[in-house]
Amino acid sequence: MDSIKNIYKIGRGPSSSHTMAPQNAATLFKSKHPNAHKYSVELYGSLALTGKGHLTDKVILETLGAEKTKIIFNYDEVFKYHPNAMKFKAYDEDGNRIDKWLVFSVGGGELKELNEPRDVSLKEIYFERNMAEILEYCNDDNINLVEYIDKHENLNEYLEYVWRVMESTIIKGLDTTGVLPGKLQVKRKANEFYEQYKKKQMREAYLYATALAVSEENASGGMVVTAPTCGASGVLPAVLCYAKNIYNKTDKEIIDALKVAGLIGLLAKCNASISGAEVGCQGEVGVACSMAAAAYAYLLGATNEQIEYAAEIALEHHLGLTCDPVNGEVQIPCIERNAIASTKAIDAAKYALLTDGKHYISLDYVFSTMKETGLDLSFKYKETSKGGLAKKEGVN
Ligand code: SF4
Repeated sequence: MDSIKNIYKIGRGPSSSHTMAPQNAATLFKSKHPNAHKYSVELYGSLALTGKGHLTDKVILETLGAEKTKIIFNYDEVFKYHPNAMKFKAYDEDGNRIDKWLVFSVGGGELKELNEPRDVSLKEIYFERNMAEILEYCNDDNINLVEYIDKHENLNEYLEYVWRVMESTIIKGLDTTGVLPGKLQVKRKANEFYEQYKKKQMREAYLYATALAVSEENASGGMVVTAPTCGASGVLPAVLCYAKNIYNKTDKEIIDALKVAGLIGLLAKCNASISGAEVGCQGEVGVACSMAAAAYAYLLGATNEQIEYAAEIALEHHLGLTCDPVNGEVQIPCIERNAIASTKAIDAAKYALLTDGKHYISLDYVFSTMKETGLDLSFKYKETSKGGLAKKEGVN
C-alpha cells in the first residue's frame, strides 16, 4: 500500500477530485508545454456534469490561462476505468497538435493514467493489504496500530503540519459569517453554532460548529486537508478538535490518532474507493466517518480490535449513501452531512468500546461491500447531480 501522507493532501476546496486534481493535472501539462499557443481540455463524466458547480473549469482556466484555453464538456462519453476523465491537448501557433494527455481524477486529489493499477502503488510501504493482515501482524508482534504505522513510515513531521492546517481552517471557519459562493446562497452556520456553544456549553454544538467550519471553508474555496476528500474534510478535524478541546487530548495524541485514521482511509482507497463519482458519498463521508471513529476509539484507549470495530460500524451504516449535490455545488447535502457524521463517528467509537472488539462483519468485508454497492449505484447518484436531492433547485 501507498503512504498515509497521500490520504492527507493540503489544498484549496471545494473538491479534491474536481478542483485539486484537475488543477494539479493542468499544472503538470503546462509545465510540459509552457510555450503552447493554445490548450484544450475535454472533461468527461462527473467532471463534465458537476464541473461548473465544483469550479473545475475555473481552476483549469486559471492554471493554463483563460485567453488560450478552451474547455469542452463531454456529457455523453464515460470511460470504464473511472468516470472522472480529462483530456488535455496542446497546440502550436499553426494549430498543429503537439501533445495530448488522457488523465483521470480517481478520488482524494489523486491522478492516474488509463489502466494504471488503482490498488497498488509502485512505492509500496505497507505490505499488508487489508485490515485482517494488519491485525495479525500487530498480534504477532504485540504492538498497537500506531506502533505498526511507525514501523513502516515516519509521519510525525508531516502530520504535525496537517494538524496545524486543520486547526487553522477551523479557526477561520468559526470566525467567518455571511453567505457561501454559488447559486444556492447558503448561509454559513459555523459561527452561529459556536456562539450557541459558548452560551449553553453544549458539547454537541462545539462538534457541529467545528465540522461546519471546515466544510464551509471548503465550500468557499478555502484551504483544507483531504480526509479522505475535500467534500468530507470536516468530519475528522471536528472529532479531533473535540477530543483536544473538550477532553484535553494532547497534540501528540492527536498526531497518533491521525495516523490511525489515515490507515483506515488508505485501506478504503486501496481496497474500495474514496471517489464519490465512483461509489457515491459512502466513499467520501462514509470513509471520513470511519476514519474519525477509528481515531476517536484510539484516543479513548481502544484495543486494535475495538478500533477496527469502530471503523467498521461507522462505514457499515453509511453503505449505499448517494452523492447528489444540489446544483453540483459541494454544499447541500455535504456541509450538514459532515456535521452529522462527526457525531456518528463518536457514537461508533463509544459503542465499540463497550464490546470486546469481536463482531460479525469485518471492516474488510464492508470495504468490499461498499465497492460492490457503489458499482451497482445508478450514475444519477454518483456526483452527476442528475437525481435524488440534486433535483431540488433553489434550496437554502
Ligand atoms: S454528497 Fe458526499 S460525495 Fe457528493 S460532493 Fe457532497 S460530500 Fe462529496
